[in-house]
Amino acid sequence: MSINDKSLIKGRSISPLENARMQLKNACDYLKIDKNIYNYLSHPIQTLIVNCPVKMDDGRVEIFEGFRVLHNNVRGPGKGGIRYSLDVDMEEVQALAMLMTWKCACANIPFGGAKGGVRCDPTKMSKSEIERLTRRFTASIIDVIGPDKDIPAPDVNTNPQIMSYIMDTYSMGVGKTTPGVVTGKPIEIGGIVGRKSATGKGLAYIIREFARRNNLELENLKVVIQGFGNVGGNLAKTLYKWNCKIIGVSDINGGYYNPNGLDIPKMLEYNETHGNLANYENKNDEKISNKELLQLECDILAPCAIENQLTHENVDKLKCKYIIEGANGPTTTQADEIINERKISLIPDILANSGGVICSYFEWVQDLSAIRWSLKRVNKELEKLILDAFDTVYKRKIRENVSFRMAAYFIAIERVAKAIEYRGIYP
Ligand code: NAD
Repeated sequence: MSINDKSLIKGRSISPLENARMQLKNACDYLKIDKNIYNYLSHPIQTLIVNCPVKMDDGRVEIFEGFRVLHNNVRGPGKGGIRYSLDVDMEEVQALAMLMTWKCACANIPFGGAKGGVRCDPTKMSKSEIERLTRRFTASIIDVIGPDKDIPAPDVNTNPQIMSYIMDTYSMGVGKTTPGVVTGKPIEIGGIVGRKSATGKGLAYIIREFARRNNLELENLKVVIQGFGNVGGNLAKTLYKWNCKIIGVSDINGGYYNPNGLDIPKMLEYNETHGNLANYENKNDEKISNKELLQLECDILAPCAIENQLTHENVDKLKCKYIIEGANGPTTTQADEIINERKISLIPDILANSGGVICSYFEWVQDLSAIRWSLKRVNKELEKLILDAFDTVYKRKIRENVSFRMAAYFIAIERVAKAIEYRGIYP
């Protein structure tokens, strides 16, 4: 289910937060979780709204509205990205923070859920304007973030450089260098090796394990990947190494199809050099649209680009056997229902793309302990944690005969509810 999906209930469009609450309610009803706990979990425990005055290069002072939401911290400090976008609004950030609570609980890492955002258009801002905005925003939320309170990370339109500004501003504010306040930093200041490829690799580990459990031959598994950025590109790279046949990939400019398998190393190199696949050419590949790409006949379809790609308009035309969500919220609520009816197994975002947050957890552990992790250790631990999560969800799905998505939500919500039960409600 997409968190951004403006679903219709009795003809009325509902907000991402209402949608997230509905999902929570369905799971709580099924699990017979106490109404008080549902009530508790349906609200973020803290929402900070700030207005950040920022000196622009032309001398004007512009005010940017920003948010930091902590949905829940019963299992550990909050964890979640900060996005810079004109679409940012409070309810959406609250919904995304709730999703992070479930993602961290499903992966069984000791974090609660959080999210942040600033309403701005970074494409129209200079580097120094972005730096001033980031530093002011950090100063405005300094009391609610921290390595043992709430740990931001990159999200839409934010990156390791922006995390460095946050780390520096926070460190200046508290009077000591504090790398553990954010993850997704450059390696030189406490970032972790392997973070960039972690989400794509995590998806690949799940695909390999899913194939093993379902007696599918990994070699020659026909895979279609939408999105060729961090997630899609790294997924393609790993699966290609394992001899899967990647027959379709796309980016925002369109897609490529080759029934005998695309030349992924060549495409990755082109993408690295040019920043996209817009003018990529290979004589045996057919150029197709993103719409056509999603309808290719294949074993696995991996939407790894943006939200709301599988909708009630195209879901009847899918010719894949399985779906694995690399992007956050690529499937709308209506599409999700049809996918279930069509008995296409779908491995949901909160499980499938948790490799990123799992690796962020390693970065945080590294920063707190001041002991550097090797790439070998990162990859080994990532594989272990994500496959443990997959195993738990898989068994629950089989046992209760529900979708992977429902099983993942059940596990996550139960873990958080149990933590509340043990801790009790303060005071
Ligand atoms: P990215 O910016 O590196 O890559 C996005 C890719 O999608 C690009 O190839 C882009 O051209 C393509 N794309 C954009 N709009 C498209 C469209 N309309 N149709 C087809 N392709 C389109 O982003 P990313 O980091 O790979 O993230 C992709 C998704 O995965 C997002 O939903 C993100 O929230 C989610 N995600 C990312 C991570 C991570 O570690 N990077 C972790 C968890 C979830």
